[in-house]
Amino acid sequence: MRITALAGGVGGARFLRGLRRHLDSLDSLDNGPHELTVVANTGDDITLFGLRVSPDVDTLLYTLGGGIHEQQGWGRADETFAVQQELAAYGVEPQWFGLGDRDMGTHIARSMWLAQGATPSQVTERLAARWGLPGQGVRLLPMTDDLVETHVVVDEGDSERAVHFQEWWIRMQAKVPARRFVVAGMDRAAAAPGVLDAIRSADLVILPPSNPVVSIGIILLVPGVREALRGTEAPVVGVSPIVGGGPVRGHADACLAALDVEVSPAGVASLYADFLDGWLIDTADETAFAAATRSGKGPRTVALPLLMKDAAATEAMAAAAVRLGLELRP
Ligand code: GDP
Ligand code: CA
Repeated sequence: MRITALAGGVGGARFLRGLRRHLDSLDSLDNGPHELTVVANTGDDITLFGLRVSPDVDTLLYTLGGGIHEQQGWGRADETFAVQQELAAYGVEPQWFGLGDRDMGTHIARSMWLAQGATPSQVTERLAARWGLPGQGVRLLPMTDDLVETHVVVDEGDSERAVHFQEWWIRMQAKVPARRFVVAGMDRAAAAPGVLDAIRSADLVILPPSNPVVSIGIILLVPGVREALRGTEAPVVGVSPIVGGGPVRGHADACLAALDVEVSPAGVASLYADFLDGWLIDTADETAFAAATRSGKGPRTVALPLLMKDAAATEAMAAAAVRLGLELRP
């Protein structure tokens, strides 16, 4: 089976690690091997201290490759911050974005290879080789090889201004209301090699619990991606990132508010309405979801516990997504 997933950082990476474990257990039973292609959001990318940082790609690499700081969800385990402290001593800004020494190694390698003329796809492939992704049957693709950056338009006095997504998310903690999101460079961007084909030729497409606006929502803006999702024969199954009426972590509520979309599994599903076939929601949201979607139209929905509190719980969620996908196969 060929599975394609669209993912952001922490939530997506944790889910996909569980999915990979589930697929391994299937491999030992049936006609595997099962292949997983992950299309990563690169709208969060930022240049800091002359280095190109790709937070969602790196979180996916470290999580799937076994180098992630587990409690934090991003960055490297056993990390130190000597370089950042030196930069601070020189008064170099910004200091609100934490870059550890080990992590910095990734950004130096990426920046060097990009400067030598490699594309982001080629760079990601080299980084993924080090983390053993091909050996796990995982292919990691950036959504585009073009330079795109998500910016957030916020109020400033009577006027407005745009700040980089990371400045809004990390420095402002998403507390300044977002008017809208704009993705600089997207109008001239193209999907990276393999992305559209991975959606069109998949047996199953999965949307893990990633931020529906600034992670998956940005991938959906890449020219051709939404059309490929509408057109693919593969069922598209999503996992709600909203549990018990709110986000599990991060600021998805602030992002949905900017779009005037309700913070609920029904609200998130409405963003995917034109292509979503299956939808996993938490049991805590079952009653509210049924009331919100009384028409009976919409994706086939299954309710189950959706908190990734440990490896077993995450694997159970991934198994439910695959099961629903198999049921929905034409
Ligand atoms: P990203 O969008 O994948 O970069 O990562 P985030 O870590 O910011 O999380 C994205 C979304 O996933 C957020 O809206 C979270 O509420 C959601 N999320 C995080 N952990 C869980 C979980 O254990 N279960 C579910 N259902 N959603 C989660
Ligand atoms: Ca992200």
